[in-house]
Amino acid sequence: MTYRAIAIDGPSGAGKSTLAKRLAKELGFLYVDTGAIYRTVGLAALRQGVAPSDPAGVLPLLPALVITTAYAPDGLQHMYLNGEDVTQAIREHRVSDAASQVSAIPGVRAYLLEMQRRFARENDVIMDGRDIGTVVLPGAALKIYLTARPEARARRRHKELLERGQQTEYEAVLQDMLDRDYRDSHRAVAPLRQAEGAVLVDTTELDLDESFLALINLAKERLGL
Ligand code: C5P
Repeated sequence: MTYRAIAIDGPSGAGKSTLAKRLAKELGFLYVDTGAIYRTVGLAALRQGVAPSDPAGVLPLLPALVITTAYAPDGLQHMYLNGEDVTQAIREHRVSDAASQVSAIPGVRAYLLEMQRRFARENDVIMDGRDIGTVVLPGAALKIYLTARPEARARRRHKELLERGQQTEYEAVLQDMLDRDYRDSHRAVAPLRQAEGAVLVDTTELDLDESFLALINLAKERLGL
């Protein structure tokens, strides 16, 4: 049996995970959040006292890490690190940075590649990340590059953090986002860029429902649903 795949890439704060989750629910596909996998490696490095940017420290940790996923009935992807549920822990601010740093190490990317591809061999998937359309699933039936202007992305992320009770300044969120965008799109291996054949969707002027409509229409058209 062959399965269908939708790849969604783009910078942080473009709405990838919210929209991919909703799309997966609507289509009955499995949602795979690949950022959560990199975050789990980042968390492991921090916990072991290793600098997330140091290949000599991070790479030897990999063989001993047991990273698994499980799906809650509502489709939420839970991440486990050596059996511990780290779904909440990987959302901490310091882990975002650590994830971005470990993800620039080529050996880390190579190590996680097979795990990501396995999801798509065994399920209809909507996978989001930075290199899904370019590296992980270049043959996906639909590839989307989801983006928005940095100020719009930072405004959304800032609002989200305040709603979660995390007091932060908008300026700091914007700067963080620009730093992460820069690192993700300038690394040597699998940099963030629009894949060949990917459809560009800019959500700067769209609200969530409008963005969802744009994506579901593309999915239906491309996958013949
Ligand atoms: O998507 P999220 O913000 O959770 O991802 C955290 C970090 O993991 C990103 O900033 C990026 O550096 C890295 N990442 C990646 N490739 C992916 C998914 C995430 O390099 N496919």
